[in-house]
Amino acid sequence: NVELYQDALTKVRTELLGKHYPLIINGQERDTAEKLVSTNPCDTSERVGSTARATIQDAEDALNGAWDAFKTWKTWTMDARARVLLKAAAILKRKRLEVCALMTLEVGKNYAEADVEVAEAIDFLEYYAREAMKHEGFGAAETTWYAGEENGLMYLPLGVGVSISPWNFPCAIFAGMLAAPIVVGNCIIVKPAEDSGMIAGFVVDILREAGLPAGVVQFLPGVGEEVGDYLVRHARTRFITFTGSRNVGLHINEVAAKVVPGQRFIKRVIMELGGKDALIVDETADIENAVTAAIQGGFGFNGQKCSAMSRLVVVDSVYDEVVGKFVERVNALKVGTGEENANVTAVVNEESFEKIGKYLEIGKSEGKLLTGGAAPGENAGKKGYYVQPTVFGDVDAGARLAQEEIFGPVVSVLRARDWAHALEIANSTEYGLTGGVCSRDRARLEQARHEFEVGNLYFNRKITGAIVGVQPFGGYNMSGTDSKAGGPEYLGNFMQLKAVTERY
Ligand code: NAD
Repeated sequence: NVELYQDALTKVRTELLGKHYPLIINGQERDTAEKLVSTNPCDTSERVGSTARATIQDAEDALNGAWDAFKTWKTWTMDARARVLLKAAAILKRKRLEVCALMTLEVGKNYAEADVEVAEAIDFLEYYAREAMKHEGFGAAETTWYAGEENGLMYLPLGVGVSISPWNFPCAIFAGMLAAPIVVGNCIIVKPAEDSGMIAGFVVDILREAGLPAGVVQFLPGVGEEVGDYLVRHARTRFITFTGSRNVGLHINEVAAKVVPGQRFIKRVIMELGGKDALIVDETADIENAVTAAIQGGFGFNGQKCSAMSRLVVVDSVYDEVVGKFVERVNALKVGTGEENANVTAVVNEESFEKIGKYLEIGKSEGKLLTGGAAPGENAGKKGYYVQPTVFGDVDAGARLAQEEIFGPVVSVLRARDWAHALEIANSTEYGLTGGVCSRDRARLEQARHEFEVGNLYFNRKITGAIVGVQPFGGYNMSGTDSKAGGPEYLGNFMQLKAVTERY
């Protein structure tokens, strides 16, 4: 409801603009000398608010406090813990429009996408709550009798872990990455992305309102290379759940594998990394439908999704038709602010803006610029990190443009000789997150089902927008450890199974 959303935006501007979120350690607010400031990417003259910037000492205190809280939290029943999440979901439903509005201001997400994201966050809380109840006590796994002995299986939490999250799904991914570990009895230190600390603070406040005991979630906004890195290396960090870029992920994987003095366990590492996701369109496809899928997948939230369609692979015989229609639709996309619900808004920050600008230059030598290509840095009189929706044609499968994650409104079109070549191109990056095929040929779809190397595959539709409980999400290869968020196996990442055998 657009009017209600506008009311919420006014409310957020009146009540939350300029708000400062301190750290929360052992249930106590704690401020720091330095701050992390959030500005509106669509209008950089608007300061949205700030969070504290945690120090190493804060991280140390948070870890110690979390291990203390773990002693009690692990004794709660799954059911009791699940109820905290269900209550938080109920509160989030009430505050849904406020979170949407805050997301629009802090990361520039348009309100249609922000609304879908808050719905996803609610789904995560409710889904993990329900899944947790299936893992309660000895009844959760089969108890078998063998050779006169009873074999009982039970799930136990791991201990204290760290969640390090990105800014592009600042509500849903943040909420999901903390809800799953805690509902099965772990305690967690949450280190949100520097650009989306306020939304994270808002979500943590909801969990506190829902009755979460002190110390179960320690809110630690700060700089990744400082407190993030410190926590990852720490001897008492039992597990790390990370969603973010390939390079930071690989770095974390490496340091987490090193055993440091005092460490008594192998750290469990759960990774959700980037993508270079392809949509194949063959000569049998419904072209209008395929073009719509390409627009939605390529430009939703400005291509700032791990699941974004950044490669459009088109079979030669329909290449000109598909590309012609696609570029026409790209030219019709409205560029503007999130609050206007523009199709393409500003990208998140200066670093991203500069990085995308470099790829625009690289693209001009690697492909044929079909539309866009500039990063004006302003739109309709507002200064912000605006990049034109851009399409490069005839990009070679091995080009940097077709291999590296750009994370902006930039799509590369690749020409395939035929279906077999298209599938080969689609599988030619190191990533394997989402992918899609638009085709009416049943045999090809069946082949893709087995041979398209991605964790989430979509036929005849867009390749983004996994639904919790329906399309468990997670990638292959360099896209991560295939942890399948929003699926029945996800909670297993945060538990250990004990087999207890008793001879009577
Ligand atoms: P990023 O890797 O720059 O940052 C992610 C988090 O890591 C932030 O909280 C950051 O502070 C922290 N960090 C940075 N350096 C660190 C270090 N040395 N030690 C510990 N923590 C550190 O990613 P981003 O720009 O926030 O997010 C975009 C990336 O996330 C894209 O690559 C996107 O594909 C990926 N992503 C993946 C999924 C998925 O489910 N696979 C979902 C969303 C985003």
